[in-house]
Amino acid sequence: MSPIVKLNKVSKSFGSLNVLQGVSFDVAQGSVVAIIGRSGSGKSTALRCMNGLEKINGGEITVCNHHLHQNVTKAQLRALHLDVGIVFQSYNLFPHLTVGQNIMLAPKWVRKQSKAEAKDLAAEVLGKVGLAEKFDAYPEQLSGGQQQRVAIARSLAMQPKLMLFDEVTSALDPELTGEVLKVMENLAKDGMTMVLVTHEMAFAKGVGDKVIFMHQGKVWEEGDGEILSAPQTPELRQFVGNGL
Ligand code: ADP
Ligand code: MG
Repeated sequence: MSPIVKLNKVSKSFGSLNVLQGVSFDVAQGSVVAIIGRSGSGKSTALRCMNGLEKINGGEITVCNHHLHQNVTKAQLRALHLDVGIVFQSYNLFPHLTVGQNIMLAPKWVRKQSKAEAKDLAAEVLGKVGLAEKFDAYPEQLSGGQQQRVAIARSLAMQPKLMLFDEVTSALDPELTGEVLKVMENLAKDGMTMVLVTHEMAFAKGVGDKVIFMHQGKVWEEGDGEILSAPQTPELRQFVGNGL
C-alpha cells in the first residue's frame, strides 16, 4: 500500500539556522509513527511542515494526496486542513464556550454542518475520548487531562484522515498523562493514522509501529520499537539512557 505521508529530502531553515536537513520518511496508512529526540532536534518543525504550518525550503511532502512544496497556495492548505488534524501541548479551548460548543465550532463553520449534525458528531467524538457526560461543562470545570481529551475530540470532529500530536502530554501532571495516552492508544486501535512527537518512551515503543529518532535536524535512526532497546548509534544510546 502506498504511504499516506511521504517526506522526501525535506529541508527547512529559519534564517541561517538549518532546522531540517534532508528529512525523509514514510507513514503507512493506519500506522502510528512516534518521533523522539532531544529538544531542538526539529521534531515540532517536521510536524508543522506536514500540516503546512511551516513552508519548506526544499524537498517535498505528500500528505493524504496533497503535495506540499515551496510554493504551496492558501487554497491547497485549506484542502489539506480538512484531512489533517493537529493537537498541541496547549489545548486552547475557548473558555466561554461549553465543551460541546468548542467541538461543534469547526464542523459548523468549516464543514458547514447543521447544528443537529454537529451536535450528534460532537457527542460521538466526546464518547470516544471517554467524556460523554461533559458535553455541557465549561473547560475550567475539567482537569488538564480532560481538557486535552476535549482538544483531541475537537480535532476528531473534523473527521481527519491523519492526526498529528505534538507532545500532548508534556504540560500535564504525571497522574493525568495516562488517560490521554489511553485515548491515543484507542484511536490507534481504531485504525487512525497518527504521527506523534513524544517523550513517553514506553508509549513510543508499545504503540508506535515505527519510531523515528531525530538528531540535529536529521532522521538519525528509524525502525520499530526495538531500536529503543538496541540503539545503533551513540546518540540514540545516550538519549534513551538519559530518558530525555
Ligand atoms: P523540537 O520540537 O525537536 O524541540 P523544534 O522543531 O521546535 O525542535 O525547533 C528546532 C530548532 O528550530 C530550534 O533551534 C528552534 O529554536 C528553531 N525554531 C523553531 N521554530 C522557529 C521559528 N519560528 N523561528 C526561528 N527558529 C525556530
Ligand atoms: Mg517540539
